[in-house]
Amino acid sequence: MKIVFFGPPGSGKGTQAKLLAKSLNILHLSTGDILREKLNDGDALSFKLKKIMSSGNLVSDEILNQIIADKLISEGCSNGFILDGYPRTISQSEFFLSFAESNKLNLDIIFDFKIDFKLVQERIINRSKQEQRSDDNIDVVKNRLDKYTKETYPVSQFFSQNFDQNFFTIDASQEVSKIQKELMNIIKKGQK
Ligand code: AMP
Repeated sequence: MKIVFFGPPGSGKGTQAKLLAKSLNILHLSTGDILREKLNDGDALSFKLKKIMSSGNLVSDEILNQIIADKLISEGCSNGFILDGYPRTISQSEFFLSFAESNKLNLDIIFDFKIDFKLVQERIINRSKQEQRSDDNIDVVKNRLDKYTKETYPVSQFFSQNFDQNFFTIDASQEVSKIQKELMNIIKKGQK
């Protein structure tokens, strides 16, 4: 099963992707998690990434495309994957779709998490206290939401038009367990 998750930061898509990947026994590919792991390397790239990520800006398309291309053809993805946080720009989306086509990776489902930005801001500020993420303070959160609106929302719109039969909008303000059930029900039913 090959799944893509869209949604603004703080919409709970990471939590849902983790739970769903476990239930379906597929790989959870969170580009945010992959990049955060790289921050521990202590090399020049990690310093560059830290600066970009802690300000809420996006890391370059080239870096992300390379990371994802390597992962998608790895053994870990043989059973399928959930893409969480990628593609995030039109350029990443173009790369991904052409990569998917040449490697015969047909997407099964796309979930788009919708949520009020005010609620997101509250959630992220609470999360920052628990996880101590350096990109979770209010100004940075606003910048991340702004990046989402300008860069990623158009990508989700493109997918909603081009994968109409497999595209499902989720009300992300609901409880975790309720969303979990909704995702499973949609997966069982398959296409619209
Ligand atoms: P996330 O945990 O998905 O919110 O990602 C945390 C940060 O990692 C983002 O604010 C970006 O700086 C960076 N990042 C994650 N995924 C991408 C991506 N696909 N393209 C560019 N930057 C990304």
